[in-house]
Amino acid sequence: MAGRGAWYAGWVPFVPLTIPPEDDATAPAPCRWYTVRRAELLVVDGEGDATAARLPQPHPQLATASDTEPIFLGVADAQPCWAQGVSVEAPAPPGTRWIPLLALSVELGAEEWAVAGRAVQLVEWHRTSRYCGRCGRPTIAVPTERATRCAACGLVAYPRLAPAVIVAVRREGEILLARNARFRGRMFSTLAGFVEPGETLEQAVHREVGEEVGVRLRRVTYFGSQPWPFPHSLMVGFVADWAGGEIAVDGDEIAEAAWWRPDSLPELPPPTSIARQMIDAWLGGGAV
Ligand SMILES: [Zn+2]
Repeated sequence: MAGRGAWYAGWVPFVPLTIPPEDDATAPAPCRWYTVRRAELLVVDGEGDATAARLPQPHPQLATASDTEPIFLGVADAQPCWAQGVSVEAPAPPGTRWIPLLALSVELGAEEWAVAGRAVQLVEWHRTSRYCGRCGRPTIAVPTERATRCAACGLVAYPRLAPAVIVAVRREGEILLARNARFRGRMFSTLAGFVEPGETLEQAVHREVGEEVGVRLRRVTYFGSQPWPFPHSLMVGFVADWAGGEIAVDGDEIAEAAWWRPDSLPELPPPTSIARQMIDAWLGGGAV
């Protein structure tokens, strides 16, 4: 994580930084503000085609509702990006409204949604890391990296990231999709679960699939990954082949699971999710 950098020079869409670039007095860049209430983002009413066009500047009405310091995120399209947390009771100022981050995934597109997700995740981290986990005294932000330090005992803490594996299991032209007991409606998705301390990603894949549906796997291979800021996951995608065992759902986390053919699929996750990307790749007969 860079503290201060000028190497971005507009050739990558977003560069994470912890220290704002020096102001250019002749042409100050307008700042982009991500105002965050829980996992909701404040946006300007109406349909917009880009995040920047829909993000309101800080509103005086919300000044007293702030519950974090402004958090510098980095630079996107030469614009400094800031996040600001506000309390859960904060109303939307006139002409704006709160929208859940999850509901914006399709509208914003992957790159802009990722910056918004970073804002939500870092605001939540600031809210929950004010005190040292070891001695309970207040922490201060480390300016040169994304970390806090305890002023009393010196403990340094970094943003929490919880890796989770997600796996598309295939068997002779079929794919294993399950309905999580927490899903709303009738959506089915690939199996997923958190990695435990001391475990490799591959071991987590075998364990989760074994625990949730009682199926054994072979040829577990990496597919890709996706930040999932609800509140701080990193989804690590794999594909695998069925190696044995019939589906037996755990009845706790998984309500239903079955093998599905391409011509009779159930309701699927949104196209922006890595789960859907794995399913679509399998349908396309490409790498999966
Ligand atoms: Zn401490």
